[in-house]
Amino acid sequence: MQEKEKFAPHVEDINRALNGKLSEEQIEEELRTYTERYGVPLGSAKRSIVKKYEGDPQELYVSTEKAIEDIDGDEQGLNLKCRIVSINEKEIEVDDEPKQIWYGILGDETGTIPFTLWEEPSIDLEKGDTVKIENSYANTWNEKPQINIGSKATIKEIESEEVPDFDREPQKLDLKDIRENMRNLDVTARVTSIEKKIVNGKDDEEKELYSGILADESGKAQFSAWHDFEIEQNDVVRIKGGYVRSWRGIPQYSFDDSAEVEFLDDDKFPPSEELDDVSVYTISDLAKRGGAVDAIVDAVMIDIKSGSGLIFRCPECRRVIQKGACRVHGKVDGEPDLRVKGILDDGTGALTVIVNRDLTEEVLGYDLEKAMEAAKDAMNQEVIRDEVEEKLIAQPLRVKGNITSDDYGLMLIADEVDYKSIDVEEEARKMLDEVRV
Ligand SMILES: [Zn+2]
Repeated sequence: MQEKEKFAPHVEDINRALNGKLSEEQIEEELRTYTERYGVPLGSAKRSIVKKYEGDPQELYVSTEKAIEDIDGDEQGLNLKCRIVSINEKEIEVDDEPKQIWYGILGDETGTIPFTLWEEPSIDLEKGDTVKIENSYANTWNEKPQINIGSKATIKEIESEEVPDFDREPQKLDLKDIRENMRNLDVTARVTSIEKKIVNGKDDEEKELYSGILADESGKAQFSAWHDFEIEQNDVVRIKGGYVRSWRGIPQYSFDDSAEVEFLDDDKFPPSEELDDVSVYTISDLAKRGGAVDAIVDAVMIDIKSGSGLIFRCPECRRVIQKGACRVHGKVDGEPDLRVKGILDDGTGALTVIVNRDLTEEVLGYDLEKAMEAAKDAMNQEVIRDEVEEKLIAQPLRVKGNITSDDYGLMLIADEVDYKSIDVEEEARKMLDEVRV
C-alpha cells in the first residue's frame, strides 16, 4: 500500500500526459512492470510508457528524483531527495588557495552514496537533515559512483517524511547470489587466497589493491579490497558495506575503507577443502549472474567446434592459423597445440567450453607428439578432432574453471574435466587403453 502511494502521483501524471488513453489500473500495471520487473528507474519508465502509447513525454510534470541505487556515475542535472547520513568539513588547496569543502554520505530508502559539496551551502547542513538536491552531478571514484554538488546545484531542506525511513543495515547475502551493482552488502566468508597488487588510480596515483577469492557454503567470488585490512589467507571474515563490480562479466565483491571488517572464529566455518567443491551452478544461473570464478558445471558436451583437436598457432600472437596463415601476421610457421572448443548444455542453457592442451591430452590418452604422428599418418589433422568428438560428444561431464561472459555469451575455461559417471569413466579408460595398444 505504501507502494501504491509511491506510484499515485506518477500514475496521475502519466494519465494526464496520455489524455486518458489508459485506465489508472493499466498505467499502474505498466509502471510496475517497468520498474519492478525490469528494474527501469521511475523517470525513464514514465517516459517510455508515455512514448509507447503515443503521448508526449514533455507533458510529464511530476519530477522524479533519482533513487540512489539507480545512480551509475555519469549523471548530469541530477535531482534527488535524500537524508544526510554524515557530513564533514575539509580544507583543500585549489590554485594554491585554501578552499573549504564538505563531504560525507547521502542516503535514501534504496541505498547510500558518498558526496562532495564544493561550495558553501546556502543553508546549514547537519547529519540527519532531509534535503532536496537539484542539478548535482555524479561521477565515479574507485569504480564507485559519487555525487558532486557544485556551484550550479541547489540544496533545500524538506520535510523528513518526504524520504521514508531507511534501514542502513547492510543486506546479508550468500556469495552465490551476488550480482553486478549491488551495494551495502554483508558477506561472511573464508579467504581462500589473497594477494597485494599496486595499481594506478586517478592522476597516476599508486594504490594498494588486495584481491583474492572468498568462499562460503554457497559458492565463491573474487574480491577486491581498496584498503589494507590485514586480511590473511584462511581468515574467516565478515565484511559489511561492500559492493559488487563485474570484470568480464564475473561479479566481484569490492570494498574500501568505508567497509567494516570483522574477523570471526575460524572453527565455526567450514575449512577451505570443504568449500572447494560447492560452487556447482546451472547454466541459466550463470547467465543471470554473468559468470563465476572456480565454478563447477555438470553438463553434456553437445558439439565440438572446428578449431578443436590438433591445431596450429601463430608464433607471434598465438591465434589459431588457417591454411598456414595468421589473420594478422600472414604466412607463418605454425606451432602445434591441442585444444577443445565445445558446447556444454545442461538443459537450462548452453555455454562454450575451452579445454587446454594438458586436459585434451588427458581426454585423448596420448600427447601432442603422438597426435602429430597420427595426423601425419592420416595426412589429415582433422582425425584428432574426430577422436575428440568420439571421446566427448554426448558425454555427461563435470567441468571446473572460471566462467566469463560477454556479448557472445558465457565461456568456461576448463581447469578440470571429469566424466560424470564412473561407468563412463571406466569405459573411457578401456577405450584409452585400446588406443595405446
Ligand atoms: Zn599472428
